Amino acid sequence: MAEDTSKSKAAPEWYRAGLPHIWLPYAQMKTAPAPLPVVRTAGSRIVLADGRELIDGIASWWTACHGYNHPHIRAAVARQMADMPHVMFGGLVHEQALTLARRLAAMLPGDLTRVFFSDSGSVSVEVAMKMAVQYWLNRGVRAKTTFVAFKGGYHGDTTGTMAVCDPDEGMHALFAGLLPQHIIADLPDTEEHAAALDALLARAHGTIAGILVEPLVQGAGGMKFHDAGTLRRLRALADKYELLLIFDEIFTGFGRTGAMFACEAAGVTPDIVTLSKALTGGTLPLAATIATSTVFDAFWSDDPQKALMHGPTFMANALACAAANASLDLFEREPRLDQVARIAAALEEGLAPAREFLRVKDVRVKGAIGVVELDRIDDVSALRAHFVGEGVFVRPFGNIVYLAPAFTIAQDELNTLTSAVLKVVRSL
Ligand SMILES: *Cc1c(COP(=O)(O)O)cnc(C)c1O
Repeated sequence: MAEDTSKSKAAPEWYRAGLPHIWLPYAQMKTAPAPLPVVRTAGSRIVLADGRELIDGIASWWTACHGYNHPHIRAAVARQMADMPHVMFGGLVHEQALTLARRLAAMLPGDLTRVFFSDSGSVSVEVAMKMAVQYWLNRGVRAKTTFVAFKGGYHGDTTGTMAVCDPDEGMHALFAGLLPQHIIADLPDTEEHAAALDALLARAHGTIAGILVEPLVQGAGGMKFHDAGTLRRLRALADKYELLLIFDEIFTGFGRTGAMFACEAAGVTPDIVTLSKALTGGTLPLAATIATSTVFDAFWSDDPQKALMHGPTFMANALACAAANASLDLFEREPRLDQVARIAAALEEGLAPAREFLRVKDVRVKGAIGVVELDRIDDVSALRAHFVGEGVFVRPFGNIVYLAPAFTIAQDELNTLTSAVLKVVRSL
């Protein structure tokens, strides 16, 4: 790994001793710049080992919606730690998980009332896919085993979910042979695309279990937005062809797009929804797959074969559920959605000048997501380093530079972020 020798003298011993043993995500280990050693976080700040402080523009992959180290979440986790950090969920339950399930069911629209917990977003999508396929099997319908998902979509890195990502993002070509074949279509965001999807479903619906989509914003696939009409078309098509509609709200859930959930903002209720990322306010890993009672009823039987056969070892971890309950308290007590609206306005204003820059193709904002799309980014590592030089942590990918900060970020911190984006993008 290309270590930055000017900094390596200041690097702590644990860093130098441990780095040769770590394998980092999404990184060519030989050429990737050395990762930054972090010693502390607070609010929207990341403190590095050499004392530098970075303003965080992406809230640790969009999870830390209340900022880092929120005292209310810390206290809840500390209390839970003293009582019971974890107990297995097979044959046992506990207050934090049941309370969280009840609260999520009450918050979600419609009849999304049955919660299955897991420990990562990818797994919650795997569970949703298993639920959908077995829903049909349990009802005696045998051939419905594939999914329709969409170009630009991202649903996780496990092999099951890779197969429903955008073909490039999910590396379908590289892993051909391992991955099951699903249908990756254009979102029905125009009449033409809607007609094409309708025709496709008319042909293939007998083999399709469900439609899987990130509602309103496709995140890791390129921060692409679509409107509520697109989701209404999906709901109508799912109803017309008797398919389950699955919303992957792992990114959009918990206020990121401006409403608590994208499904609520769009006025469209899916049959299954997945949540993770901001579920615990960015503190502990936890995910949930929530089904309507109609889906759940297909599993309700005297036949043990009709049970959902899934159970992560650490599902419904008590610390994580305590953190999630504390996070929901904060959404109730503090003006998070107002903060998101304020961030949206500030991002709109702060990023608008980038529209005039030569290399910029698009500037768009939805909720607390601000995106500057470029024609291309040649050296993403250099760009990331440039941001660190500006005192901010921003992680461009593909051809986009984006901000998705904590909802509690201070106005001056947000100004620093948008100014840094303008400066770095202008320099290209
Ligand atoms: C991050 C993400 C996932 C995967 O979650 P992991 O916890 O990384 O497995 C799935 N879907 C969406 C929409 C995501 O943003």
